[in-house]
Amino acid sequence: MDAYLTWGKTSSGAMEHITGVVSGKGGLICPFCEGPLIAVRGTQTQHHFRHDGKTCRESTKALPMIQGWDHFHLNLPVSVVHQLQAGYLRHGRMGTPRAYYGQETSIINNLLEKDFLYDHSGYGYRFSDDAMVIVSGFDLSEFDQWMHDKLAERRRVFVARAKAGEIHPALLAIEQRRQRELLTSTLYLFRFTLKEGRTIHKIGRTNRAPEERLVETVFDVRKHFDDNVQGEILYAIPNRGYVEQYALYRYRDCHLKMDNYQEYLELPVSREAGLCIDFDMLFRFCKSIHSVGV
Ligand SMILES: [Zn+2]
Repeated sequence: MDAYLTWGKTSSGAMEHITGVVSGKGGLICPFCEGPLIAVRGTQTQHHFRHDGKTCRESTKALPMIQGWDHFHLNLPVSVVHQLQAGYLRHGRMGTPRAYYGQETSIINNLLEKDFLYDHSGYGYRFSDDAMVIVSGFDLSEFDQWMHDKLAERRRVFVARAKAGEIHPALLAIEQRRQRELLTSTLYLFRFTLKEGRTIHKIGRTNRAPEERLVETVFDVRKHFDDNVQGEILYAIPNRGYVEQYALYRYRDCHLKMDNYQEYLELPVSREAGLCIDFDMLFRFCKSIHSVGV
């Protein structure tokens, strides 16, 4: 698949994403062929780099996507996603966690074969970990552990493949750079109180102090609503930036359309309580592993 080049390399070898640079020649080089680059930040196309000269083939290939971050079920046929969701949503939010409620044998066999279900020793079928992510059935702390392991596994595979000469070394460097950002950023949950007690929430991540980010987002929300909006930090959880996209995916039915922003939610009372419990459990989990010094 062809894609735009979104990473450039500095003379010291550091990777820079297009979002952090200004238009034009900035002294960055292509991570793959080391030819000079020009940053193109247009309104018509996605921001990207183009070569100041001949475009190398490697730079036109799409970067390997991160499951649980870039997508949740992109590699699967729509029919399989529907089969999973149908067996989960019908009753899965109550009763036995992970229980699959579909009845049709051909569908069950298909899901068993793909390792999305397993036979719970005669007590019916259960969703596998990967399937729980696809149906967004994991709470945030369960997802956190799944994702932490997935990222570590990806790092091992990238290192091994680069060492064996199977992938360009730049792909490993870009992967490490992307992961570092996800693993060192702070996950946050902000709440904004509007007129008449109406509340909206924002899920996001930042590499700066969450208080600084709050000031910026209050400004955005006031611009959209009114000047009396009050904002507060409900949770700020260090080193958990990689949970952000899953949290947004899990509450995707509550997304609030607000200008060009994607990360705002407006939730019915029961879902709001669920969101806060979700963050609270993750917060406690992170504190507990910190306190035993792991
Ligand atoms: Zn190149």
